[in-house]
Amino acid sequence: MKEKPSFDLIFMNLATDLASRSHCVKAQVGAVLTKDTRIISIGYNGPPAGTHNCDEEWPETGCPRDSKNSCSLALHAEENAILYAVKNGMTLDGSTLYLTLSPCISCARIIYSSGIKKVWYKASYAEYKGLASDEGVDFLNKFGVECHKYI
Ligand SMILES: [Zn+2]
Ligand SMILES: [Zn+2]
Repeated sequence: MKEKPSFDLIFMNLATDLASRSHCVKAQVGAVLTKDTRIISIGYNGPPAGTHNCDEEWPETGCPRDSKNSCSLALHAEENAILYAVKNGMTLDGSTLYLTLSPCISCARIIYSSGIKKVWYKASYAEYKGLASDEGVDFLNKFGVECHKYI
């Protein structure tokens, strides 16, 4: 009998597929939020629905940058996933988050506060940004949210 794919693999593959829906010019990131092997929310990075589509409005120059040279208009993938869940009255306590890129420090604070207990990520935000350390990952592990690279 063929071996079944793990839920971790299935959810990470879904996060990867979702990333490709992002309209962002530079980074495309996907997120899947799960609880007890069920999906409770999904997200990808981009400005709030009904506002901007960066790739269509600024196809050549890219969208306005913030001080860290990130899109100044976009919500991050994990912010979108968490906001949707909270907006719809779901409880995130004990949930697991799958990300194609490790969380920035600002998202790490939100992840911690929302009650998510475990985070898997595919690529390192620090490597992508050329930063010395993955401060979001360090923050989560320091304060009891397991955050690991998925290999
Ligand atoms: Zn943008
Ligand atoms: Zn972030």
